[in-house]
Amino acid sequence: MRPLEKFRQTIADPELSYEERTFIVLGNLGNAAMSIALIFDILFGENIIEIIMLASLIVGTPIVTYLCRKNNKVFLGAIIEVCDLIFIILPVTFFFGGGPRGGGVFWIVFGYIFVGVYLSGVLRAVMMTVHTVISIANYFIWYYYPEFIHPHSDEMFFADGLVSLILVGICTFFMLMYQKSIYTDENKRARAETARVEELNRSQNRFFSSMSHEIRTPINSILGLNELILREPDASEEIVKDADGIQGAGKMLLSLINDILDFSKIEAGSMDIVPVDYHVGDLVSEIVNMIWLRARDKGLELDVSIDPGVPSVLYGDEVRVKQILINLLNNAVKYTAEGTVGLHIDSSVTGDKKVMLQISVSDTGMGIKKEALPYLFDAFKRVDEQKNRRIEGTGLGLSRVKQLVDLMEGTVEVNSVYGEGSEFVVTIKQGVSDATPVGELSIQNLGKARKNSYESSFKATDASVLIVDDNEMNLEVEKKLLSGTGMRVDTVMSGQEAIKQTLSTHYDVILMDHLMPEMDGIECLDHIRHQTGGLNREVPVIVLTANAGSENRDLYNRAGFDGYLVKPVSGASLEDALIKHISEDKLTLRKSDMRMGDGISTTRGYFRKAPVVITSTTMCDLPHNLIKKLHLNLLPVTIKTEEGIFKDTVQMGSDELIRYIDGGG
Ligand code: ADP
Repeated sequence: MRPLEKFRQTIADPELSYEERTFIVLGNLGNAAMSIALIFDILFGENIIEIIMLASLIVGTPIVTYLCRKNNKVFLGAIIEVCDLIFIILPVTFFFGGGPRGGGVFWIVFGYIFVGVYLSGVLRAVMMTVHTVISIANYFIWYYYPEFIHPHSDEMFFADGLVSLILVGICTFFMLMYQKSIYTDENKRARAETARVEELNRSQNRFFSSMSHEIRTPINSILGLNELILREPDASEEIVKDADGIQGAGKMLLSLINDILDFSKIEAGSMDIVPVDYHVGDLVSEIVNMIWLRARDKGLELDVSIDPGVPSVLYGDEVRVKQILINLLNNAVKYTAEGTVGLHIDSSVTGDKKVMLQISVSDTGMGIKKEALPYLFDAFKRVDEQKNRRIEGTGLGLSRVKQLVDLMEGTVEVNSVYGEGSEFVVTIKQGVSDATPVGELSIQNLGKARKNSYESSFKATDASVLIVDDNEMNLEVEKKLLSGTGMRVDTVMSGQEAIKQTLSTHYDVILMDHLMPEMDGIECLDHIRHQTGGLNREVPVIVLTANAGSENRDLYNRAGFDGYLVKPVSGASLEDALIKHISEDKLTLRKSDMRMGDGISTTRGYFRKAPVVITSTTMCDLPHNLIKKLHLNLLPVTIKTEEGIFKDTVQMGSDELIRYIDGGG
């Protein structure tokens, strides 16, 4: 019983390869079948040569099995056993066992099954062919030269045929049973493995989002309190400078966390594109405002030009499009010491309510060495480190751009001349939700003068807001950030308290945290919306959460929130969110005071790049009507070859060429 149990365990051992287990099973099965056949052959007085052959193989096979397993030569062992079968056992059984008047025929069929199960690939095909040829040869010899076949009496034919039939049947039965059990086991294991990986992925995602949440909550306090210091009219130059440093470092830390979390999410395949409707004007304005101050601090010019024909409302993952743009623009500013950083957006409608956006971010910075270009989009790769060592960076920005663009099935290309500047061109397809052209965008610089002169963008002394958050420090910060608006700001620390409050007081807006113990923001919103006798059933509720990520935005949309603010929030972002929901009669805007006065026109510098085809003689030889039909612009050039200079049509100087291109062909 024990050896049998050991055998069972060995062939079920998933640590052993499929080939090794099959080798063990078939070796033993073959030996058992040969042993039974030998007993019957002796009992029925079969030909002595067949008996000797069987006896020697019964002794030899376990030795081969043992040696091959010991020396890790399972494949060689399988070949030896198949060769034994088709070159020795089957011909001997056929010739010395009565030809077709014996058990040999059944064993020939068994040979096919054995080769099919045991071998694979080309070798299997070769052995199957060899086996077929030998079997045909055996039959021909029996038919044309019967004297070579050891004859069987009727009784022997009956006995050998019957025993062989049953043995082949049983062997085939066990072989297929074993195959099926391996298949079922492997299937079970694969399913369990998939479930394990999925669970790992889920817990990794939970970990990422909770980590992002946990980190954002204190950063919200740090940056908020810091903004309050920056607003302090009595703060000295020194304090403002330090607070400025904290602001920069805090934002850097945040973008670092975002980069790392997003990177891991994309690597784990758990990053999805979450499309929403978004206003191109708002997106561009937000991005430009983010980059404007940084560019100006470095004395760089910001050149923005947007195709006025871009549809005003697009459908796509706004957050990811922003991330791509911010990464590229940040790099452009970071790696440029003087000159201009440009953002140029072109569009072409592709039909089917889709538009192809071509976003180009250019700079007149240090440029990228040609040999570094192939590695540019690799993660953690910073190129030209010698020159860049004073510039902060992780080497994740561009790899994330590439990952996000790939996720959107777009492309990103880079043109760069070392020492002169770079241009990154991203092409992505977006849906069109409102085809009205965006026209000219007049972007105002919303950047506030930092030092000691903060003024809120509006006053609303008759308005009131309720903030619900379980983090006391965050409540404190948010309340203070809004102090300049003159609004009444009430704060509560739980969903239950919020529900009590909304029964007794009417608010103009409610800001609601999402993750709170006992009752979360979504549940609380539901209660407020359906509260019997509630005074805030119709009041706009904005989710103010540390849960970043497009997937959450979708969740909040579906839950019925009227807005979405991600921590850390600044005074300006809080005001921007509130201003949309406070009725005009309670608002006094202070727009003219708060803007810094300069603005960017997005169409002033815009020109649509004209497609220019530089001709070759072959191009010029195209039929005239085809050139017209395809709107091919033919640029007359001279072509220089090793054999001389050929005029294609007319000669053109470089000045003329530039004028020609500027003129749009
Ligand atoms: P980093 O955090 O180092 O900026 P990125 O992945 O964003 O990481 O960029 C990778 C490298 O590519 C940078 O270290 C820099 O050498 C180079 N690079 C990226 N953008 C520019 C640019 N606009 N001009 C010059 N070099 C750039």
